[in-house]
Amino acid sequence: MLPDSHVPGGPLADQWDNHRFDIKLVNPANKRKFKILVVGTGLAGASAAATFGELGYDVEAFTYHDSPRRAHSIAAQGGINAAKNYRSDGDSIFRLFYDTIKGGDYRSREANVYRLAQVSVDIIDQMVAQGVPFAREYGGLLANRSFGGAQVSRTFYARGQTGQQLLLGAYQQMMGQVATGKVKLHTETEMLDLVVKDGAARGIICRDLTTGEISSHSGHAVVLATGGYGNVFYLSTNAMACNVTAIWRAHRKGAYFANPCYTQIHPTCIPASDEFQSKLTLMSESLRNDGRIWVPRNHDETRRARDIPEAERFYYLEEKYPSFGNLVPRDVASRNAKTVVDQGLGVGPLKNGVYLDFADAINRDGRQAIEERYGNLFDMYERITGEDPYSTPMRIYPATHYTMGGLWVDYNLQTTIPGLFCAGEANFSDHGANRLGASALMQGLADGYFVLPYTIGNYLAPLLGEDPLSIDDPAFIEGEAGVQGRVQQFLSIGGSRSPEYFHRELGKIIWEHIGMERNAEGLEKAIGEIQALRGEFWKDVRVLGNNESLNSSLEKAGRIADFFELGELMARDALDRTESCGGHFRAESQTPEGEAKRDDENFAHVSAWEWNGPDTPQTKHREELEFNEVELTQRSYK
Ligand SMILES: Cc1cc2nc3c(=O)[nH]c(=O)nc-3n(C[C@H](O)[C@H](O)[C@H](O)COP(=O)(O)OP(=O)(O)OC[C@H]3O[C@@H](n4cnc5c(N)ncnc54)[C@H](O)[C@@H]3O)c2cc1C
Repeated sequence: MLPDSHVPGGPLADQWDNHRFDIKLVNPANKRKFKILVVGTGLAGASAAATFGELGYDVEAFTYHDSPRRAHSIAAQGGINAAKNYRSDGDSIFRLFYDTIKGGDYRSREANVYRLAQVSVDIIDQMVAQGVPFAREYGGLLANRSFGGAQVSRTFYARGQTGQQLLLGAYQQMMGQVATGKVKLHTETEMLDLVVKDGAARGIICRDLTTGEISSHSGHAVVLATGGYGNVFYLSTNAMACNVTAIWRAHRKGAYFANPCYTQIHPTCIPASDEFQSKLTLMSESLRNDGRIWVPRNHDETRRARDIPEAERFYYLEEKYPSFGNLVPRDVASRNAKTVVDQGLGVGPLKNGVYLDFADAINRDGRQAIEERYGNLFDMYERITGEDPYSTPMRIYPATHYTMGGLWVDYNLQTTIPGLFCAGEANFSDHGANRLGASALMQGLADGYFVLPYTIGNYLAPLLGEDPLSIDDPAFIEGEAGVQGRVQQFLSIGGSRSPEYFHRELGKIIWEHIGMERNAEGLEKAIGEIQALRGEFWKDVRVLGNNESLNSSLEKAGRIADFFELGELMARDALDRTESCGGHFRAESQTPEGEAKRDDENFAHVSAWEWNGPDTPQTKHREELEFNEVELTQRSYK
């Protein structure tokens, strides 16, 4: 059964304050008696580890990277939302809450989203105090821009490097705690299992990526802040190493996995240039502030973009959605791009993109202004494509970018395993079926700086006086043996195909059937194909090298084995959810205009899946979503 989600009672605006007053506290002098293990040192993990350390807890932090600065958070470009209303354009905490609930197509918890909007304002103050160089107006005030799904300018940014600057801020704060000895940092260390005893999380099993050594780590609580699983699609905008293993291993130990089929396809990525490409590059959504999206009206167009007259251009978003235009949310922009490309109107050598055109913005504001706003993104685009976006429109196409699904957590960010918490993109989060731009950084930092530091105390307080489980306990010994056995199994299969091959093939199935549009027939097919490919993988994968030295092939094999199981669950979840909502578009459920058609009567709930063992389908549990503050309406961006 799904545990209570612990949403506090009372008026929405007071819930977080009341909850913080009601939950148990750990006395400052007692905090040092508790050990917290934080897995992941991206924005969510680094901010949590730094804050736990400052509060006085004994912290160990783990990352498979050689430095926390390499976390995928570093790649975030566009910005971070906050309801500061600096532009006096009508923003408020309630409006950010409302936009986020609506943007997520009414599939997230009101209480969590309201709290997120509330603490968003503190995040900006926190990061400015740390020296993050947010863009400023001429007079020195912090600048803002707009992102999709909002009619106000509430996005704070540092050119196209917002994630990098924020991560450096959180990193330096965490490293300050490393220097004081409150945080012990383990780099190049991959968590490969969770240790659960008497129903509670007790620690983790890790492998040293450079020596192959397996080690046990015990604590009073474990926090997973291990990022998203978008790489299950193979081609995505995520860093190549992003994977699902940490949360999948926890899922296998009893943590329910929520809404796995909710993945986000981002509309503005550089289209693939051939079939062997292994990575896609995002062009920040902020570009949609000034760029106009269009395709030629003529199917057989051969002229260069700049030679096609206005009357022969199809500005499909501006025509279909006059009030939001190019700033419709990501799911809407992505689906519309797919529609025009499927109609044969695509541009570029493979006819697999649409134009994002800055000519009007350059004429209006001047090249220098555009360069100041997006210079590094334009340079990046030119380096990748060899085309100059100042003089010819960029070509863009949707690609997998973010995963709204993840471990189910209650209001305290605790999973279904007591003592196991989950933060950032790794949890099922506050974004419902579709995340609005610039809200992932906001959520990761909210979780790490402003939520977990309070809620974890509520779990720890009653444990005062209890030592963490000894690593000589059979639970740790069995955990280590399990990890060791799996490593040896990969090395001994000795098949003929690389892990990369299986990943690419799996990605094709997932993109084809669980990508931008799904239907029952395709999803059933996907389940069969994934099972068959998984069987082949376990018989025929070839892992070169050994366990005792750096071996990326071995690392990859383990991550792909977990992607297979996740991929099947994504298909089952998508099949079960016969409605369309946000990033989950079921072809059978659409309005006459082709928009996502929700089924609130049957699906206004979170689907949380319980592991039942290998080769046995998971059991679905429902968390019903209650909406008291917003009215559920069909989303319209017209
Ligand atoms: C190209 C791109 C641009 C983006 N731009 C924006 C933007 O402008 N605004 C916005 O709000 N969002 C943006 N996002 C989304 C946002 O960047 C991410 O959602 C967010 O940074 C995730 O942070 P995180 O801390 O949850 O995870 P990550 O930053 O992915 O960190 C995960 C951490 O976990 C560690 N880890 C994972 N598994 C293990 C394991 N098994 N053992 C040990 N360590 C492990 C990793 O080493 C890493 O330290 C963007 C995403 C992409 C792909």
